[in-house]
Amino acid sequence: MYYSKLFGKTNKSVPHDADSANARLLVQGGFINQLMSGVYTYLPLGLRVLKNVQQIVREEMNAIDGQEILMPALHPKENYIKTDRWEAMDDILFKLTGAGDKELALSSTGEEIVTPLVKQLVTSYKDFPVAVYQIQDKFRNEPRAKSGLLRGREFSMKDLYSFHLTEEDFDAYYDRSKEAYSKIFQRCGLDAKLVEADGGIFSKYSHEYQVFTESGEDLVFHCSCGFAQNKEIAEVKEGDACPNCKDGKISVDKAIEVGNIFPLKTKFTTAFNFKLQGKDGKMTEIIMGCYGIGPSRVMGSIVEVHHDENGIKWPESVAPFKVHIVPVKWADEVQQKLAVEIYGKLEEAGIEVLMDDRDKGPGEKFKDADLLGMPYRVTVGRGAADGVVELRPRATGEIEELSVDDLLKKLV
Ligand code: ATP
Ligand code: MG
Repeated sequence: MYYSKLFGKTNKSVPHDADSANARLLVQGGFINQLMSGVYTYLPLGLRVLKNVQQIVREEMNAIDGQEILMPALHPKENYIKTDRWEAMDDILFKLTGAGDKELALSSTGEEIVTPLVKQLVTSYKDFPVAVYQIQDKFRNEPRAKSGLLRGREFSMKDLYSFHLTEEDFDAYYDRSKEAYSKIFQRCGLDAKLVEADGGIFSKYSHEYQVFTESGEDLVFHCSCGFAQNKEIAEVKEGDACPNCKDGKISVDKAIEVGNIFPLKTKFTTAFNFKLQGKDGKMTEIIMGCYGIGPSRVMGSIVEVHHDENGIKWPESVAPFKVHIVPVKWADEVQQKLAVEIYGKLEEAGIEVLMDDRDKGPGEKFKDADLLGMPYRVTVGRGAADGVVELRPRATGEIEELSVDDLLKKLV
């Protein structure tokens, strides 16, 4: 992609409610554009990142036998009456009235839709377990939409639902989901900690994946042995001896919840009277779990964790482009020719490249490259006449002079 052709450029305007690094850097870099509080357009650069995150999530959900579906975002009230959540979710549910005075809600989660769907389509015990997921925009009337992509009113969510005939089968799947979640966050460059959280009325715990950072809204009590509880349920306080290892002391830190897995037992299947005849001929209650991740919140969290005062440092796995070529002087024929040659060879090798083809000074171009945060900057300058360029990983900032051949060996 040539930068001059890109829709959405870097800009100096800082949104007035940019209370966090991700809001400021993503808007300034031209990744996202704010429509209103908690609602953003993804511009081409930002959409590439979001899709990369979603693809990682998709691959790991497929790896634990999840099948992708896409359910409607427009929901009928009746389904929420069955689960007693029409009023209970009043604080966050966007409600609207359709033609014929039909009462509707915008999707904030999917249990009300997926439970009757699976009940309708899966009618034999032989077809269990079932795991279906979707990657869909969710709508929540968050009273405090803030922190850029961290807490939106419209945001991307992956929600998977699993259905089982026995507790043992559910437990085994729940454990598999934990492994998948760890892989997802690792692949996204996030060090997410598994934290015990409130399980609601039906189970003691659910589990959250929390990324420690100052911009987090949650407080997590934790010990170096791995013990961790969300403050909202915590049975410990700061400075306590760790109840798990007995040696360590409990510390407390701010964190962002990037994922949440939840045993639902039979809460929703009972509401929809979803049971069926098991192998032994007896009626069996269906046990359910739900597993959420917010790809847009993950994207915001990546920026919170991977940035410096000059801009973003995208991990390669989610970066919109792997390489950013900066010809010092685009009008210089030798430089331009070499830059175009490198661009072509990298693209041929399947590497995504952004080329700064603007007639601007190197200072401004380097500044923008730092702000945009592609993992590798290739500077084509005076050395071009001798076929020499500079490679600068954004993460380390250490510059290396290389011949084009050596550069390609490093990047391909
Ligand atoms: P929170 O406690 O932060 O409000 P939640 O527990 O209500 O979130 P879930 O219902 O478990 O969230 O949703 C699954 C995932 O969706 C969360 O782990 C998070 O990654 C993401 N998510 C939830 N709410 C938002 C939001 N308002 N903006 C962006 N992502 C969100
Ligand atoms: Mg939660």
